[in-house]
Amino acid sequence: MHDKLYIDGKWVAPLKGGKADVINPATEEVIQQIATATEEDVDLAVKAARRAFDKDGWPKLSGAERAKYLRAIASGIRTNQAGIARLEVLDNGKPFPEADWDIADAAGCFDFYAGLAEEFDTKSAETIVLSDSRFTARAVKEPMGVVGAIVPWNYPLLMASWKVAPALAAGCTVVLKPAELTSLTALELADIADKAGLPAGVLNVLTGAGSVAGQAIVEHPLVDKLAFTGSGPVGSRIMTEAARDIKRISLELGGKSPLVVFNDADVEQAVEWIMFGIFWNQGQVCSATSRVLVQDGVYDKVLACLVEETKKITIGNGLDDGILLGPLVSERQYSNVVRDIEKAKAAGASIACGGKRPDGFGKGYYLEPTILTDVPLDSEAWNEEIFGPVVCIRSFSTEEEAIALANDSRFGLAAAVMSTDHERAERVAAAFRAGIVWINCSQPTFTEAPWGGYKQSGIGRELGRWGFENYLETKQITRFVSEEPWGWYIKPKVGA
Ligand code: NAD
Repeated sequence: MHDKLYIDGKWVAPLKGGKADVINPATEEVIQQIATATEEDVDLAVKAARRAFDKDGWPKLSGAERAKYLRAIASGIRTNQAGIARLEVLDNGKPFPEADWDIADAAGCFDFYAGLAEEFDTKSAETIVLSDSRFTARAVKEPMGVVGAIVPWNYPLLMASWKVAPALAAGCTVVLKPAELTSLTALELADIADKAGLPAGVLNVLTGAGSVAGQAIVEHPLVDKLAFTGSGPVGSRIMTEAARDIKRISLELGGKSPLVVFNDADVEQAVEWIMFGIFWNQGQVCSATSRVLVQDGVYDKVLACLVEETKKITIGNGLDDGILLGPLVSERQYSNVVRDIEKAKAAGASIACGGKRPDGFGKGYYLEPTILTDVPLDSEAWNEEIFGPVVCIRSFSTEEEAIALANDSRFGLAAAVMSTDHERAERVAAAFRAGIVWINCSQPTFTEAPWGGYKQSGIGRELGRWGFENYLETKQITRFVSEEPWGWYIKPKVGA
């Protein structure tokens, strides 16, 4: 199954494509091969999704009926939660407890959207009060159609679930392409959906290169909507391509999110959240709070505590007990992050700790958690996403300065503020130009709450009811109810 494509309810070999190695980032060993789909496979998958949408009746099922399949998928994920989490660790490198958390969250996502699918049966139409009593109208929500879902490697099953669950709940059919580095749990999802009896063509999973399979999904004229999570440059390209056919899009892109610590914050808690904001998932998190701004009264204390605690982080194979930081996802990602650290140093930054491969690791893409100080405001390190366990920290004096520094970015995904002054925290939260704001924490993410960015961090929102809306069109149905004829061209006969 892991070296096949899942198209139209069947496991098939790619028509023309070959295979690609899957590498365990902790050991650099090849653990599996996956199929590499080409445009011919994409065409089959999109046409299967089209049939399932247009002819086979998936959108015509009631929400309650679709919910049964979603709940069965959630249950299938939970039944093998530990096994899927282990696969995620082998594929992505993250510590097992993090993977376990992700897989539980993915199951919860299917359950949550099952609930919204059930509600949809009674809430999909809304009466509109018109200014002209000769007409009545209602607005009806309907599924968008065939969705091309393209996801990254940092939360493989979870990012797929954030798209597949609401899309299926809304009545859409899906062609999913996981990242080439981490495809295994998306294939598990296809297997679980298959065993749950999901009708053929409703979910198709194609592995392969972004530039081939991904591009073919983006360009396919029978795809109605593109749901993408990944890098800014690819997102921008997808937006341009989508414009040709006026495809609907939602984009979840990168960030360089600030975390602001005020003098009145609890220092130990602030350090805990700084660490959680940048070292969880090896810092390969779109919403990572990678720019830390600390008020000058507590800067030295926060930095000292952060360095001390960071040095205690246990690094190793994510399958071993007690590991808090695994390897980066690939050799390429490791080299990119090391290159970014070198560039930061060349720009004048200092390393307070980390910055190199940890001692004693012969194999695996391991990197010490890294704290950069004196990072120039105009440097790449301060402004661009590093996507690794690397945090930049600097001091500020006033609230006004902190807000200006925090918002001085082309990104606007997330922002965090740490303060015991409730009014100040709310003031700063309101001033942040970001789609997700955390007060006295960083990163907690809930299926019920909207997720997405301002500015160049994306378009649209995932999760919650906002994520459901992503897959719905709005139709207006207006009825002429007057007893009197309209009488514009054909005048009513006098006395008739
Ligand atoms: P990426 O853009 O390289 O790849 C993402 C997906 O797009 C992969 O499946 C890839 O195969 C595919 N792809 C690549 N080129 C394509 C093309 N030309 N046409 C269609 N598909 C193509 O990103 P990545 O390196 O996998 O992920 C890291 C990036 O994702 C980071 O920038 C991160 O911030 C972002 N991200 C954002 C969020 C969010 O919610 N905002 C979540 C996770 C990751």
